[in-house]
Amino acid sequence: MDFTPERSDLLDKDRRHLWHSMLPYNAASPPMIVTEGAGSWITDIDGNRYLDGMSGLWCVNAGYGRKELAEAAYAQLLALPYYPLSQSHVPGIRLAEKLSEWLEDEYVVFFSNSGSEANEAAFKIARQYQQQHGEPGRHKLVSRYRAYHGGSAGALSATGQAQRKLKYEPLGGGFLHVRPPDSYRRPDGMTEEQFNLLCAQDLEDAIIWEAAESVAAVIMEPVITGGGILVPQQRYLDRVQEICARHGVLLIIDEVICGFGRSGRKFGHHNFGLKPDIVTMAKGLTSGYLPLSATAVRRSIYERFGSQGDYGHFRHVNTFGGNPAACALALKNLEIIEREGLVERARILGERLHAEMRTLLAHPLVGDIRSFGFLLGIELVADKATKQPASAETVKGIIGQCKSRGLIIGRNGDTVAGFNNVLTFCPPLSSTDEDVTFICETFKEVMNNQLEGTP
Ligand code: PLP
Repeated sequence: MDFTPERSDLLDKDRRHLWHSMLPYNAASPPMIVTEGAGSWITDIDGNRYLDGMSGLWCVNAGYGRKELAEAAYAQLLALPYYPLSQSHVPGIRLAEKLSEWLEDEYVVFFSNSGSEANEAAFKIARQYQQQHGEPGRHKLVSRYRAYHGGSAGALSATGQAQRKLKYEPLGGGFLHVRPPDSYRRPDGMTEEQFNLLCAQDLEDAIIWEAAESVAAVIMEPVITGGGILVPQQRYLDRVQEICARHGVLLIIDEVICGFGRSGRKFGHHNFGLKPDIVTMAKGLTSGYLPLSATAVRRSIYERFGSQGDYGHFRHVNTFGGNPAACALALKNLEIIEREGLVERARILGERLHAEMRTLLAHPLVGDIRSFGFLLGIELVADKATKQPASAETVKGIIGQCKSRGLIIGRNGDTVAGFNNVLTFCPPLSSTDEDVTFICETFKEVMNNQLEGTP
């Protein structure tokens, strides 16, 4: 089929009317216009097919082209397209119950539309809970450098990537950041364990130095994802949980990327036996098919939000959060993940991807390879001894060569986190064995060509 006239017309309109995230208006190359998806593969307007090794923006966990998801949303749109959750509706009730089951503990769920909003709700809940719990001074929120928690004012304040904030500051007050457990770049002479414990101590020091009675909550992902796949040791997270409990600080776990099977367990924090006070989630909740996010809160916290005067309840309103069609679709999405065993599949595929890619550790450009379930990060360096990060041109060149061979991969934070030299892989959990073979073979071919200087 000849797409050419439509393509140039659309690109012209795109240039004139559509503002893209993270792209300058006069970007050198036009955006890809994606028209279809099936399984792990997307097709652009020219008919080119790509394996989407990033699941869109880390979200299409169940893969593209799921008719069942569209049908679940369609049926609910016909029955009841909208009602606010100041009252209730059936898919909202069922999804809240299902999420509590997935969390393997008793949680109460507040719905929003995006990961950022789920985190904003968590921050407000943490602050209000502390006030209504007899700790009115606890308002500060602690997070880690290199972590991303969203683009809205509070979520961006919690984000530890300075480059994303420049030009938008001052943001919200009361946010502070501590050192992330980036073991690869730990100080010389320190073991990984010593470094992990140092990072945990850094958190405790910050809480003490800020005065614990002023700190409401700590927010962290189980593994820093967008900031470069930084995998902590078990004892780091054990210490974090213990520090939070000892200082009366709530622990908010951001599962926006790590949740819904990505880690090889239902939620990322299950791998570490954490018992968070609040869990935020989005992306994989609907596999990206419709916007929906959730803030799950322990029942004991929720029960502080009674009718204490006029202001005791959670005074946060959200028009679209928990849209019935999005909830119905999310329920179907969780059903598919369970029925097809995609959580276990993520673990198996992740182990295979990691094992096959690890042979690249011998490559002069590969400094470190880190994985968490079906998530992989490959840190590129110009010099293995000094760990000098690979240049932006090298990193971009490798991503471009993968794309020209039909493989889409990402990089940490897209120019904003750490040294921007970590390539990221986050394919749909429904990927086939052949898909994983394609990812490994294509990537290795590109890396080998780097040695020979072939594009
Ligand atoms: N938290 C994490 C860990 C994320 O990666 C993101 C987005 O990438 C967010 C929060 C914000 O989610 P959203 O873009 O849906 O607002």
